[in-house]
Order: sequence, then C-alpha cells, then structure tokens
Amino acid sequence: MTGMAGTSEHTPLDLPEGDPFGPHNLPYGVFSDSADGPAGSAGARRVGVRIGDHVLDAGAAAEAFGFPHAALLAAPTLNPLLAAGRAVWSEVRAALTAWLTEPAHRATVLPLLRPLSAVTLHLPFEVADYVDFYASEHHASNLGRLFRPDEEPLKPNWKHLPVGYHGRAGTVVVSGTDVVRPSGQRKGPSDPAPVFGPSVRLDIETEVGYVVGVPSAQGTAVPLSSYRDHVFGICLLNDWSARDIQSWETVPLGPHLGKSFATSISAWITPLEALDAARVPAPPRTVPLLPYLDDADPSLDPAGYDLRITVSLNGHTISEPPFSTMYWTGAQMLAHMTVNGASLRTGDLYGSGTISGPGEHERGSLIEITWNGQRPLELPDGKRGFLEDGDVVTLEAWAPGPDGARVALGEVTGRIVTP
Ligand code: CA
Repeated sequence: MTGMAGTSEHTPLDLPEGDPFGPHNLPYGVFSDSADGPAGSAGARRVGVRIGDHVLDAGAAAEAFGFPHAALLAAPTLNPLLAAGRAVWSEVRAALTAWLTEPAHRATVLPLLRPLSAVTLHLPFEVADYVDFYASEHHASNLGRLFRPDEEPLKPNWKHLPVGYHGRAGTVVVSGTDVVRPSGQRKGPSDPAPVFGPSVRLDIETEVGYVVGVPSAQGTAVPLSSYRDHVFGICLLNDWSARDIQSWETVPLGPHLGKSFATSISAWITPLEALDAARVPAPPRTVPLLPYLDDADPSLDPAGYDLRITVSLNGHTISEPPFSTMYWTGAQMLAHMTVNGASLRTGDLYGSGTISGPGEHERGSLIEITWNGQRPLELPDGKRGFLEDGDVVTLEAWAPGPDGARVALGEVTGRIVTP
C-alpha cells in the first residue's frame, strides 16, 4: 500500500489495528534471505523477529544500536539466546519493542525488515532432547474408550503424574517440511501375521511444544516455581503418528517407530512474556497431588494458557481444540521430567500431548475425530479416515493479548508425500 501524498508513508511498521503479530507479540525465528535477496546475504542463517508480515534482522538491528547482547542475536540458531536466561530474555524483548515502536528508530530499523515472502524460515533452534506428554484428560479418555472399552478410560496413574515418553529429537522439522509416509510393521487383530509397508493409518496430533532455554544440573530437580527461569517460550507442534505401526509395536513398551519419523514445529517461538495476558489456571484437580506437582499455591505462575487452536486439512477447518482444558501444565511437566534428577539442556523440547476439549469439534487427532476411522470426515475433496498422500495439515492458534489484542502463534503446516 502506498502512502497518501502530503502525509506520512505507510511502512511495514504501520500495522493494521489488531495485527496479531504486532509489537506485543514478537516471536523469534531463524531465517535466511531467499536467493534473490540482498547481494551476498542469501543462505546465511540468522535470528529474525516477526513483526506483521515482515521479519526484522535482529542481529543487524542489535549491531546498529550497539546493543550489548548483539552476539546472541547474530547467531545462526536461537540456542545462545535460549541459554542466556530470563533476565537477558527480558532485556532483549524490551530492546526489540523500543526499536520497533519508537519513531526515532524507524530510519535505522526499516532497511533491516524483510517481507516474509523474501525469506526462508529454518528450524529455529537445535533440538536437544525431546519428550512428549499426554496431558489432555479428554484425549486420554477418548483413547481409553476407543481401545479399552471395558475398562475405566484413564489408567490409575493418570491423575497422579503427567504421563510421557522420550521421543526422537533429530527428526523434529520446521513447519513447511514435507512428511514422507512412514513404512513399518502392522498387524490387525485378525491378521495371522504382521505385514510390512507404508502406514495406512497416518494421523496428526495437535500439540503445544515448550522450548527449554536454561539447563539444569544432573541430580537436581526443577521445582514448579522455576518454570519461567527455564522455559523460554512455546510453539505449535504436530506429532505425526502412524496408528497401525504404533498399535502393533507399543506392547509392552512406549511409542517408537510410529512416532519417530517426523515431528513438525512452527518456525516462530513465542516467548512466555508475550503470553502473560493469556495465562489461566489449570482445571480443578480431582485427586490430591504429591507436593512436587501441587500447583495450588497462588504465588506460582498459573502456567496454563488460553490458546484457541484451529486444525485444518487441505484448507478445511476440522477441529478447534481449546488448550485451556489441559489437565497438566507446562510447569508440572517440567517438574515431573526432572524430579528424578534428569538434567535439562538448552534446546530441550517437550510436547503437551494431543490437545482435545470435551466437545466433538474440539478433538486434536483424526483417530478421535473419526472415532478410529468408523466415522470418516466428509470433506469437499473426499472422505478421510486417516491422511492420504498430498494432504496438507495446518495448525494455527491465537491467545488473548494485552488490551484486547490477539497474540498469534506461528502456524505449523506439513504435507504428506509418497515414500
Ligand atoms: Ca503426542
């Protein structure tokens, strides 16, 4: 849009009112200029901060302003910034806010903005360890009803600890990366022997990922009260799942090849500080918790977030899971993950587990939405029990921000391709 003659020009910093990527948000990513970008800069990865539909070259801005933490923002991954700790995270965010909002800084900042269409977004941090939880009571109950119809939907441990498993960090990929349909063993209940081939029950899991910044020493536990000293921010996460491979291999141990082929995360990491207005307490607990998980103390960060998530398949909305319904919070998952003395490393990622609300339109996986394929989705492009080759799944979310604004999370999208 061009400016009106005689008045100020519109710039990328003159955002439409209510832009969910306004200066109250400022998520972090890693970008490189596309091949036709400024001469000599194509291919070099550096830290970017999203503002509207543009990316600020944060390292270049920090250098231009003589910012003391410029080296953290000139890195090719977010890991140095993640490791720097909460006080520095706040300083960096305050500086970015000033650079992007104060009129005196415009002339310096404008040349350092790139349209999103002119950059390539990369995996924003080097993933250290990856753990995935199972923190939605509605999801866990739905799967219990599907697979153990004659038992209580929840196992006896479920309300005493956040159930989880260790996943594969090396196959976490950034939004937009194609996902190759995995092959493996499967055996239906009436099959005489297992067969090998591409999964025929490929699914999604709608999740939130927590990104750990500050490490912890092996042999120590991270209490609930230290959640914000360790966790830098969150992202959307799709834990692609091959249900047929999973159901045959997961007896008696945990998820393995049915999950480890790919996990997609958004290109933008939303700092916890951007979500302060979205904080909500977890739902009421129905069993007493052991002290290390008991978050009833009102001085603790509530650590739940009012995120409104949309799941779409080939552009059609198929579900709207509410994150505020999660039984376990990110602080409780972190406390549980370390209570045995397991250490944290910078770049650790842990997933919330599939987010499902109580309603039928609030389920975060196809196995729940189609009730194990028995009630296929009717889409304009055909019926779906599980994913077909060429299908594109996109997760999006927003949260309430300050003064009625919305805080958008970066989307996570992926397309299924033939092996
Ligand atoms: Ca999962």
